[in-house]
Amino acid sequence: MSVADPVANLQALIRCPSVTPAEGGALSALEAMLTPLGFTVERMVASEPGMLDIENLYARIGTEGPHLMFAGHTDVVPPGDQASWTHPPFAAEIADGELFGRGAVDMKGGIACFVAAVARHIEQHGAPRGSISFLITGDEEGPAVNGTEKLLRWAADKGERWDACLVGEPTNPDSLGDMIKIGRRGSVSGKVTVHGLQGHAAYPHLADNAVRGALSLAASLMDPPFDTGTPEFPASNLEVTTLDVGNPATNVVPGKATFAFNIRFNDRWTADTVKAEIMRRMDAAARENPLRPGRDAIRHEISWADRPSHVFLTRNDALIGSLAASVETVTGRRPKLSTTGGTSDARFIKDYCPVVEFGLVGQTMHMVDERVAVADLETLTRIYGDFIRRWFADAVIC
Ligand SMILES: [Zn+2]
Repeated sequence: MSVADPVANLQALIRCPSVTPAEGGALSALEAMLTPLGFTVERMVASEPGMLDIENLYARIGTEGPHLMFAGHTDVVPPGDQASWTHPPFAAEIADGELFGRGAVDMKGGIACFVAAVARHIEQHGAPRGSISFLITGDEEGPAVNGTEKLLRWAADKGERWDACLVGEPTNPDSLGDMIKIGRRGSVSGKVTVHGLQGHAAYPHLADNAVRGALSLAASLMDPPFDTGTPEFPASNLEVTTLDVGNPATNVVPGKATFAFNIRFNDRWTADTVKAEIMRRMDAAARENPLRPGRDAIRHEISWADRPSHVFLTRNDALIGSLAASVETVTGRRPKLSTTGGTSDARFIKDYCPVVEFGLVGQTMHMVDERVAVADLETLTRIYGDFIRRWFADAVIC
């Protein structure tokens, strides 16, 4: 098997059932591809009390700078009902020009293509003039506690330094060449408990309905909008995601209500300032309480979900410029530079070096019949190959 063929690489990876937290043989398969190319491969097991251990992989070729990192994950989400797949989720069968399997686009496909691109680069130009590393976790689709964040710290503690990183997550909405991600919004979640006074529905003056309070507070968070967006980011947006009372009786005024929310915020905010604004809005609504005239301020408390995701924006012309030029050279299309979508492990990497994301078309990720066009694998390999050549030619070491 030649690792210069992204299709064979991807088939080998898909045939390893690496549903988080299982390694499933996927990192071993990757190690078997990288070692013959000259990479030094290390496996790092991360632990956390109360959680299953996770295997991660770090591989490097070269000892000098500039140093380009490729980051990603070999873990995949569960296949769901296997019987509903047209082709079995871990068989990697090809039909009508498409390769089927869990992880085909998210994101074993990206890894398979980058390995192939590096193999071709070494074949044509010899070892890179600098270093290339793979930073691959088995914990991206799960809690992400024993994954990229710990792997980065482990590598940095050993003296590893990087000048740029490309994450191979699927970033294209419709076709290859649509979109490079150059940043991500931040994310904060919380849960609010509103306290009233339980009572008889026929004697409301003796009770204090917690639903009224919860509605006031929830409405204050959703309107007005937090902002109207920035040049690089869409508007910040908060959604109330659940509102729960759990009251089985129609003749009882509930004394307690809870609701939860999630906000995706842009670079006008930090996790701390967005939390302060949320508390300010709720305190104001609690005092004004338009739904409860003549009552005291709404009694409420908030608990934040741990670990907010921080917003980031990459400004690095050498990295963004060379990747965009490679996409355009190979596909003939100028990719959009975007900060949309959910969070990714790039949020951890941005603390170490400039990071951008570009991979396959994401349409079928996490779905039954996840699949990739075989032609896209060759195209992405060419884009990655052109990017490696271009980045090492132009690299500005920061
Ligand atoms: Zn992914």
